[in-house]
Amino acid sequence: IFISFEGIDGSGKSTQARLLAESLRARGLTVCHTREPGGSAGAEEIRRLVLEGDADRWSTETELLLFTAARRDHLEKTIRPALARGEVVISDRFADSTRIYQGLTRGDLRDTVDRLHALMIGVEPDLTVLIDIDPAEGLARAVARAGKEMRFEGMGLGVQEKARDGFLALSAAHPARFRVIDGARTPDAVAADVLAAVLARL
Ligand code: C5P
Repeated sequence: IFISFEGIDGSGKSTQARLLAESLRARGLTVCHTREPGGSAGAEEIRRLVLEGDADRWSTETELLLFTAARRDHLEKTIRPALARGEVVISDRFADSTRIYQGLTRGDLRDTVDRLHALMIGVEPDLTVLIDIDPAEGLARAVARAGKEMRFEGMGLGVQEKARDGFLALSAAHPARFRVIDGARTPDAVAADVLAAVLARL
């Protein structure tokens, strides 16, 4: 089974992806816990190209191509082999992040994103866990978190709000794939809901 985590910056999705991986391993399952952008050697190199350096280094179109190249490598080298071995794949972000960030908040490329996805990626997760959080709270959490790449963070409340609305609209359009979970609670409370949603699918 292929599970992705999505949400705006500061939603807590990375924490939740990690907690889910730990819970499933404790139940004896073999888990491939991975992330985007990145998740394979080549894709991690592309991650550095995109997330380090000036924010205006790439146009949104070029950024879309780089993220798509990273996803293709991630799929070939990490996700497909793990699924073929029968593992549970948990990816911290997948194509929905591109639909929102390159498609919506940093450009108006939704149609191009969808065409490129159909051409080069072509798969969706079996289950997408959307950790939903108030945009202001997410922003405060993201700003408080020191030391990580800040290339895309601190872009302001307007962007966070647009991204949240975009994720919620995606989840409404694909109700069979998405589970929306309220992220404004303790990590353990959120994790319990995530685990229940995943166990219902296994
Ligand atoms: O999930 P994580 O915080 O590691 O993502 C790093 C940054 O990359 C985030 O600020 C996110 O907004 C951005 N991003 C993006 N487009 C994607 C995936 C992530 O702009 N397709």
